Amino acid sequence: MGLLPERNGTGGLTTILSRVDLHSHSTASDGGLSPEELVARAASLGIEVLSITDHDTTEGLPAAQAEAQRRGITLVPGVEISTVSDDEEIHLLGYFVDPEDPDLQTLLTRTREARRERAQQMLARLADLGLPIEWDRVLEVAGGGGSIGRPHVAATLLEAGHVHSWDEAFDLWIGRDCPAYVERYKLSPEDAIQLLRGSGGLAVLAHPYIYNRYGERKMSLDLNRWLPRLSEAGLTGIEVYYPNYPRRASRELLALAIQHGLLVSGGSDFHGGMLGSGLGGVAVPWAVWEGLARAHRARQSRPLPAASPVR
Ligand code: AMP
Ligand code: MN
Ligand code: MN
Ligand code: MN
Repeated sequence: MGLLPERNGTGGLTTILSRVDLHSHSTASDGGLSPEELVARAASLGIEVLSITDHDTTEGLPAAQAEAQRRGITLVPGVEISTVSDDEEIHLLGYFVDPEDPDLQTLLTRTREARRERAQQMLARLADLGLPIEWDRVLEVAGGGGSIGRPHVAATLLEAGHVHSWDEAFDLWIGRDCPAYVERYKLSPEDAIQLLRGSGGLAVLAHPYIYNRYGERKMSLDLNRWLPRLSEAGLTGIEVYYPNYPRRASRELLALAIQHGLLVSGGSDFHGGMLGSGLGGVAVPWAVWEGLARAHRARQSRPLPAASPVR
């Protein structure tokens, strides 16, 4: 489980326990629980449908799928891909992706390599700034391979005593506008959508807004601009239920989804630690799952034309 901070299953004071959670991370990327542990935790919390959406990797999915079968819950194979366009960072979730799809795997492998190079560049900057950490230790913290991210760098900085907290690592050193931050290779959102759809998946826009725990909006995409563009590219849905969203944010996003003919999704973005909220900690209506499952079935029975996407 390494150094990524672990917290109790429901994230402290969170009391909501949803039957559906379509956004979570395992040790295959920057989560704190192994894929099996994550599924076991979900099952024990009464979650019936879970999606594991690791950053740029599907490597946790086979073990998770086996555990889901043992526990009698549904695991939706997922992935989260970071993209960038017009200087905006846009995250896309893929659901029902085929982990065997060669184009998807080629891209994910290349992205993970780029993540490694970028993390090493960040270590060089940190060393210049007087905060040296060992690359081998970062690898160990990340569980030996997988998808290396800034959370692993943050955990290693914390362990080395260079920062006092996780937030300090991001706020002072490795956050997007900080001195040790290095941008990494990212696809365009349109290319990511095409790739996800090509592997049999549905593409969903992740967290169009980000709110902190005090209910302050920290980031938002201009959806009137982006939704037509992403819909055109084959987007199926947007995440409407997400940690710290005030009710009005979910309502606003729901209205936009209806307006643009999109489905909706939601989840906790559980990382097994201090990030996101507790597993099952965001109430996601059962109908959300049914809508996505229906869209997936509809695509399966009509696999060919990409020209008129089934949403
Ligand atoms: P990366 O994909 O390597 O750029 O790292 C991004 C990941 O770092 C996100 O998925 C979050 O898990 C985490 N993260 C990003 N920003 C912050 C922040 N300000 N505080 C804590 N965690 C963050
Ligand atoms: Mn993450
Ligand atoms: Mn994200
Ligand atoms: Mn995520």
